Amino acid sequence: MDKLVISDLSESDFDNKRVFVRVDFNVPIKDGAISEDYRIRRAIPTIDFLIERGAKVILGSHLGRPRGMEISSLSLKPISVRLSELLGKPVKFMGKVIGEDVNATVDKLKKGNVLLLDNLRFHKEEDENDKKFSKRLASLADIYVNDAFGTSHRKHASTFGMASFFDLRLAGFLVDKELRFLTTIRETPDHPFVVIVGGAKIKDKINAVKNLLEKADRVLIGGGVAYTFLKAMGINVGRSITEDDMLDWAKTALKIYGDKILLPTDHVVAEGFEKRKTCMVVDEEIPGELHGFDIGPKTVGKYASFIKGKGVIFWNGPLGVFEVDDFSAGTTHIARAVALATWRGATTVAGGGETIAAIRKAEVLDSEITHISTGGGALLEFLGGQELPGISILNDKHDYKGLLYSVTN
Ligand code: AMP
Repeated sequence: MDKLVISDLSESDFDNKRVFVRVDFNVPIKDGAISEDYRIRRAIPTIDFLIERGAKVILGSHLGRPRGMEISSLSLKPISVRLSELLGKPVKFMGKVIGEDVNATVDKLKKGNVLLLDNLRFHKEEDENDKKFSKRLASLADIYVNDAFGTSHRKHASTFGMASFFDLRLAGFLVDKELRFLTTIRETPDHPFVVIVGGAKIKDKINAVKNLLEKADRVLIGGGVAYTFLKAMGINVGRSITEDDMLDWAKTALKIYGDKILLPTDHVVAEGFEKRKTCMVVDEEIPGELHGFDIGPKTVGKYASFIKGKGVIFWNGPLGVFEVDDFSAGTTHIARAVALATWRGATTVAGGGETIAAIRKAEVLDSEITHISTGGGALLEFLGGQELPGISILNDKHDYKGLLYSVTN
C-alpha cells in the first residue's frame, strides 16, 4: 500500500503547524564525538522541507539502549550540535523528552524553528509503547511524520503508539525512498535480479532469504552463511561457523533452488582471528582445524562476473570477517563490483547488519550505490514479508482526500 508522503500535502498544510518527526539519530558516539553522521545526514531533506514550509519541527530519536535510565553518554546533545551545523541554523535542545518546560518551549516555537528532544528511551514507557506516554508525546504536535525506517519494525511509543493520536501520519522522504526501493525488491524486481547474501547467520535473515531465493535469478552466498550450505552438501568446512539446526533447511533450499545458488569454491582460512600468520587460501574443502573467514579470489572472480550493469542487484551482509584486514578482500572486491555495476546502469540496493560499514571500509561512495538502506532488522523483516508497525500506522495515499475534509471541517 502506498503511504502518504510529506510532499503529497499542499504547501500550506504545514504552515505554522507543530510537526513531530520520528528520526533515527542512533549514531556511534565515542567520548562525546560522533564518529559517523550518516543517519543524521539522511534526515536532512525531510527537516529542510518542513522548515521551508513554515512548520515548527520537533524531532525525536533513540540512541543506544538506556533501558529507561538517563545515561548522560547516551544524551542527544552532541547530535543537536552536529544537526545545527548540517542545517545551518540553531537547533533547540533542552535535555528532556516530556514535561512542563518542554511544553512551554514547544508553545514558544516559531515557524521554521527546530527542537530536538532528548533520547526517547530515557523513558521505559517508550519501549513499552505506553499509552499515557504516547499521548503526552502526541500532545506536542499537530502532524506526525515517520522518517526512521530503521526502527519501524518496533512497536514503540514514538514509532507506533503516538501516531494513532494524529489524523495526519505521514512518511518522510527517507522512509518513502526505502519503501519504494524495498517494495520493488520484495515484489517486482527487474531482471536479471542478483542477490548477494553474506553475514554471520542464516537464521537472522531466514524469511528474507526465502523470499529472495524465490524472486532472484542468482543468489551469491558468502560469509558465515555459506558454510551451513557447504556442510549440507557434505563439503568439509573445518571449524567455520555453521548452524546445525539449519542444515535440513539448507538441503531443501539447495534441492529447490540449487541451479540459482552459487557457493564459494575457495576460501581464505586461518586457525583463528588472532592467528593471522596461519592465513592462507584453500580450494573446496577446509581442513579440520581451520576457519573459513573470507571468500577466496576465484570465488570473487566468479561472483563479480554475475554482478553486471543490468537489472537489479541486492546485497546484504559482508562476505567475510571484513573487520579484520586479512579477511576483508572478498567483501571489498564485491563492494567495488557492486559500485561498478551502478555506474554501468544496474539498480543496486545494499543494507542490513554490517553492510554499510563494509561499504565504508571498501571506500565505496554512497552515490555509487543506488540505494543504501538504513534498516537492519527492519529491512530483513520487510523483505521477509512482515508488516512493520511503524509503516502500517501511516496514512495510505488514497486516504488523503477524506483526511483533508476532516481536517479542514
Ligand atoms: P550480519 O550482521 O548478518 O551482516 O553479519 C555481519 C558479521 O558477519 C560481521 O561482523 C562479520 O565479521 C561476520 N562474518 C562474515 N563472514 C564470516 C565468517 N566467514 N565467519 C564468521 N563471521 C563472519
